Formats: sequence, structure tokens, C-alpha cells
Amino acid sequence: MNTKLTKSMDDITALCRRRGFIWQSSEIYGGVNGFWDYGPLGAALKKNLKDAWWTDTILCPPDGPDGKPLQMVPVDTTIIMNPKVWVASGHVGGFNDPMVDCRKTQARYRADHLKVYVPPVADKPLLVFVEGQEVGISKKLKKLGLAADQCAVRDFTELAPTDLARMIGPDADEPGSLTEPRQFNLMFTTHLGAVRDEESQAYLRPETAQGIFTQFWNVVDTSRVKTPFGIAQMGKSFRNEVTPRNFTFRSREFEQMEIEFFIPDPDVVGEEIAQTRRWYAWWRDHRYAWWRKVGLAGDNLILREHDRDELAHYAKDGAGTSDIEYRFPFTAPGFGELEGVAHRTNFDLRQHAQHCGRGDKMRYFDQEHNAHYFPHVIEPSAGADRGVLALLCEAYTPDADRPSGVYMKFSPRMAPIKAAILPLVAKDGMPEVAEKLYRDLRRRFAVQIDIKQNIGKRYARMDEAGTPYCFTIDGQTLSDQTVTVRDRDTLAQERIALDKVEAFLGEKIGG
Ligand code: ATP
Repeated sequence: MNTKLTKSMDDITALCRRRGFIWQSSEIYGGVNGFWDYGPLGAALKKNLKDAWWTDTILCPPDGPDGKPLQMVPVDTTIIMNPKVWVASGHVGGFNDPMVDCRKTQARYRADHLKVYVPPVADKPLLVFVEGQEVGISKKLKKLGLAADQCAVRDFTELAPTDLARMIGPDADEPGSLTEPRQFNLMFTTHLGAVRDEESQAYLRPETAQGIFTQFWNVVDTSRVKTPFGIAQMGKSFRNEVTPRNFTFRSREFEQMEIEFFIPDPDVVGEEIAQTRRWYAWWRDHRYAWWRKVGLAGDNLILREHDRDELAHYAKDGAGTSDIEYRFPFTAPGFGELEGVAHRTNFDLRQHAQHCGRGDKMRYFDQEHNAHYFPHVIEPSAGADRGVLALLCEAYTPDADRPSGVYMKFSPRMAPIKAAILPLVAKDGMPEVAEKLYRDLRRRFAVQIDIKQNIGKRYARMDEAGTPYCFTIDGQTLSDQTVTVRDRDTLAQERIALDKVEAFLGEKIGG
């Protein structure tokens, strides 16, 4: 088979648009930067991913490291919460990325995304660029009389403020237009009620986790969970990202799938930190295995343990933090984060207890250890949109031998359409047989019927949609009650009995 090895993000984006996986939000008005809509195939793919997460982490997770069934419960909390939540969590004060503005072009950049070409001589300008967006940079260097191989490439944040006067911004032509990095709050604000003043200001949540922490006490009081147990939630989060880019990877509205897993405070119950590490390692490995199971089984998925100096303030003394990362075409040869797994200590619960004024009275009572404490948490926090994007990139398989030139190799569980039912021609009683089969199958599986157009074109559409099986009703079906099954990956065709199709799909797809 003639399969090109390289995948281009432009080709993947074009297929997503053409086949209705992902479109720009409000596209007929020119779109809106950082917001994306899912079309029929994309919405189904995203739901399959979220359903798999719900099933595999809440309804039927594997046993924990203690060999007992994992206790997990869901919540569904609001996007707008009391603004005090975000003061307690540290987001109002600290949810900032240092930003650099260009006074000339009004462009704004995240300081940690900027790199600088530093020439060996002190009187030459310093050329600043956005990492990953080096298009046209060698031309710009040449114009300044600089050669890339003679310059050192340094992080913008490493250079002194006194160097600013020599710097030419990524979109500017002359030096001196960049500002020093300034803090920029990433939370969207809105106002509650009729009056728009400071009192009525509220935020759109930048993470779903705080909904879990603030309802922790209600969950404990109303269900029978005991540490160790987890609360899970999926839902929309919003961040006013300064440079939304790389398709849906960095969006301003996105969906998260978050778990807070509550375990005894090792200092209070006299357990070794080893117990906390055991839970941390278990979640890290389980989540990594899950991403592999849903279709990211190749070399593009990695697990990366953070160095100590990368850790968030609350995690410095913890059991660890790691990222599950995927090599997207736009990050290659590097990787981009799909999910973070962190030991957050008991920072959040303590903060909320303190800020709501009840302090130690809000400690959890552990009957088994006869002790009061704020449980520690292991937090696996994943992005549904980045997950879908990784599934799309992984599935995209160029194949010059097919009429479509490409097919989407989704795992059967993730495939938006599990099977297509195709009458060879739209006459001679074939559509009627196809319709009956379609009615029977759709009760159990996401199937589609497609009656018109030549069969090659219909196969090509299904290849691009990533449909694992096509059942074709032809002249022989009418005489011997068999259909052909076409396998998306091998292109092999075999005949099976019409009344065995449902069992065939059940075996291949599950469900
Ligand atoms: P990054 O460093 O890429 O901004 P982060 O470390 O701030 O991400 P977290 O706060 O750990 O991300 O959020 C958990 C998950 O939510 C991420 O792993 C990612 O999948 C998803 N996520 C975060 N920000 C965005 C975004 N702007 N667009 C899409 N998904 C996002």
C-alpha cells in the first residue's frame, strides 16, 4: 500500500472542514478567534470520547492499587460561581501569564512563547519571534545583515529589560516597540443582574475543578463515599487565551474532563508519603493507558514526569506531577499536553475552608483512622477538545491508492459512524432491503444509510468519516440473503448472511 508518512496540519484541517468534523464558530460572519464548533461527525466523535471517559473512570474503573473497587461519583456544577471561589483558589490573584505588548502593532504575546536571535556583536538589533511561527524569519534576519547560525537563540524571559530598546518585535520592523512583560488575567468577566459595577462582577470558570472542591462537603454528607474516593466532572471552561492557535489546541472555550481523587492526609493518619505516591503513580499510569486504549497507541503519545522546578506552588512538596502529551503535527518534533496528573496536596480544600470562614471545622472525619483532616488530592485533568484533536491527527492516514486519498483510522469505539449500509444501486428492491437492515441496526449502533451516487464515491465518503465497516446490498443479496462487508483498513471484502450482520457488528464494535 502506498502510504505517505507525513501528515500535514493543513490537510487535516481541510478534511475536518470538508467532512463536518470541526468548523470555525460563527463562520458566516468571518469566525471568532479561539472558538470552534463541531459538525455532525465531530460532535459524535467528541461524545464517544467523553462517554468512554465517563464509563471508564466513573461507572466501571479498574480496581485501585489497594485491589478494591474504585469509589467514584460525578457532579455537574455551574460555569459561573460566587467570585469568592476564584479569590480562594488563587485565580483572581495569580491566574496570569506575563504578556508582552507591541506598541507599534498592538499585538500581544505570551512572554514565555517568545524567543530572540542574539547576534555576537552588541550594536546589532535583536530579532524576536514567536516559537513555532518562524515563517519568513531568515529573510528578516538577512535584511538586518544577520545569519541565523551566527546568532544564539535565547528565551525572551532570560534577557534584561535594558535589551528591550534593541529588540524588533515579531510583527514590527523597527526596534524598541516591545513592552516589559505584564500580568494579564485570563479569566473572562461578566456581570450579574442589571447593574454593571465591581459588586456585580463575576467570572466564567477557567477550570471545572473548583466546582468539585466547593461541593466536596455536600458530596461527603449525601453519599456514602469514604477516603479514598474520587469526584469527577466534565464541562466547559473558558480562558481568554492571548494567542489562541493551532486549531482547537489552544481555544478560549473548551471542555475539560477532571477528576479529584481524595486520599488521607499522610501527615495526619501517620501513613508514609509512599501511600500518596502509590495513588499518584496509579492514576498517572491508568490515565496514560486509557489514552492508548482509545486510539493513541503509537509513538506519538508520551508520559512526561515534571522536574521539581516546573511544579505549581501547591505541588512543590508533593508526590509528583506529570503530563500525558501527544506529538501533534504542529508541535513535532515536540509534544503538546493532553492531560495533567498532579498531586495537589490539600491546598484547595484548605483555602476554601479558610475563605468561607469555617476553617478547621470543615475538616473531613475519617472513621477508619479516627482522625480529622483535609484530604489530599490526586488530580487527573484532561481536555476533551485536545483529545479529539489528537484522535483526528492520529487517525488521519494518507493512502494514494484510494479514491479519497486518505482514510481516518479511528478505533471502532471512537468512530463517529460504526457502519454504513449501501445498496449497490437505487433500484431492483435493494433500497428496501437496506432500509430494513438500517432500521434494525440503528437501535444498537450509530449507523448510516446512503442510497444514491456511485458505490466508489460512497466508500470514499465513509473512508474520510472513518467508518470501520460498509455493508453492501447487491443483486446476490436478493437471491441468497447475503451482503458484502468491506473492511476500512484492509479493504478486504467478504460475504456474510444478512441475518448475521448485527452479531458481526456486535462482535467487532461492542455494544
Ligand atoms: P497549557 O500549559 O497548554 O496552557 P495548562 O497546563 O494551563 O495548559 P491545565 O490548567 O492543566 O492546562 O488544564 C488541564 C487540561 O485542560 C489541559 O491538559 C488541556 O487538555 C486542557 N486545556 C487547557 N487550556 C486549554 C485551552 N486553552 N484550549 C483547549 N484545551 C485546554
